[in-house]
Amino acid sequence: MLLDKTILELAAGLRSGEFTSVDLVNECYDNIEKYNPQVNAFITIIPKEVALKNAQEVKLNSPLSGLPFVLKDCFVTEGIKTTAASKVLENFIPPYSATIYKKLLDAGAILVGKMNMDAWGHGGSTENTDFGVTKNPWDTSRVPGGSGGGPAVAVSARMAVFAIGEDTGGSIRNPAAWTNTTGLKVTYGRVSRYGAIAYASSFDTVGPVAKTSEDCAVILETIAGLDNLDATSSPKPVPAYSSLLDKKMSEIVIGVPKEFYQDGLDPEIKAAVLQVSTELKKSGAVIKEISMPLFDLCLPVYYLIAPSETSSNLARYDGIRYGHGRDCFTDETTRRILIGTYALSAGYYDAYYKKAQQVRTLFIEEYQKALSQCDILLQPITPNNPPKFGELLSDPLQNLLADIYTVSQNPVGVPSLALPCGFTKSGLPIGAQIVGKMFTEELLLSVGHQFQKTTNYHLQKPKL
Ligand code: GLN
Repeated sequence: MLLDKTILELAAGLRSGEFTSVDLVNECYDNIEKYNPQVNAFITIIPKEVALKNAQEVKLNSPLSGLPFVLKDCFVTEGIKTTAASKVLENFIPPYSATIYKKLLDAGAILVGKMNMDAWGHGGSTENTDFGVTKNPWDTSRVPGGSGGGPAVAVSARMAVFAIGEDTGGSIRNPAAWTNTTGLKVTYGRVSRYGAIAYASSFDTVGPVAKTSEDCAVILETIAGLDNLDATSSPKPVPAYSSLLDKKMSEIVIGVPKEFYQDGLDPEIKAAVLQVSTELKKSGAVIKEISMPLFDLCLPVYYLIAPSETSSNLARYDGIRYGHGRDCFTDETTRRILIGTYALSAGYYDAYYKKAQQVRTLFIEEYQKALSQCDILLQPITPNNPPKFGELLSDPLQNLLADIYTVSQNPVGVPSLALPCGFTKSGLPIGAQIVGKMFTEELLLSVGHQFQKTTNYHLQKPKL
């Protein structure tokens, strides 16, 4: 299947004339027709004629030219319905496009769909959507993770070459872990958020989901960089990530923070994640146990600040300016708006929101300290394997605990790469994340690339 190939292999094949962009688009739509009815990953499928026309007209001016991709449905696309998976925006047709979408169109990539998610990014299972749950292609009785379940499933089930997701507290990494895909949560500010429907603005990041670390490097090269329309986007130059993938592992110290491997972590996941360090050690990396004692505070900090910001961001959906009224918010979203409004209200602000921001500063220091003792941190992504439908929803506390390993990085801003690192005895995928200092994506991507050169977990795909 053409869609098993990496981005650089596809780019080479298109240039040598081995196959055409039309062939790729046709293969995508064949897979969408076969698999999407089983997994419900799409909210909007772009009409095949439109994608084919774009494929026929494409000029090969970048490695992404002619490659079919999908967007999480939280990115506005001019003239194409954008819902954030909420009934509130059921019929919303944006009048402008997100910067990442424009950059990808300029690069000649071909949009084939807008993908399902937990509404507004609120969730970790793609069950909190008004467009029907997305199913995990590795076991359709289980959730694919979230909030970006749709984008990850599209890549995992070969319905697109790559996807763009959004990560506020794990929404790229968590579904990557549970669908056997590779996903990058970038440094805050590395990629423009202009046109990304805001969840928690000081945590939100935009990044790639793909089959390999190398693919993520190629995509990041295209989407990263300063954007005058996003004042928080960084002016730092964008490295040529894909030509910097061959760093010597003998120069690298991998920190293993012991607090991330204690009670509550499934033993099979723990073994698979630690195996990543054993593998990288063979290439010369040095492993060092370290301590991050504030770890326990990450969930309360995240679940005070994120709802506070979302209660403010979602205030604009008043039923007058955009879409339907506030009665269309789901219970999960309403719960977050209530918590956030409470934490920000006079009399409680100091005790909750301000305190959480103070602890956030301690977290920034904790990560700085940890990353001064090593180059990267190796951490699990999820404490458990993908649950069956309903298991998380019936237990809101469990739902929050599922995010424990992915919510400490966003308040700090550091980047993290999610990598497939094994399978459970029952055949479910397991992921690990490597976290680095601010703006060290090239290091994370090269460690990921090295790991994928010597392992084949990332090559496995679901049997639908
Ligand atoms: N699961 C987390 C939450 O519900 C993360 C979501 C995200 O990154 N958008 O807040």
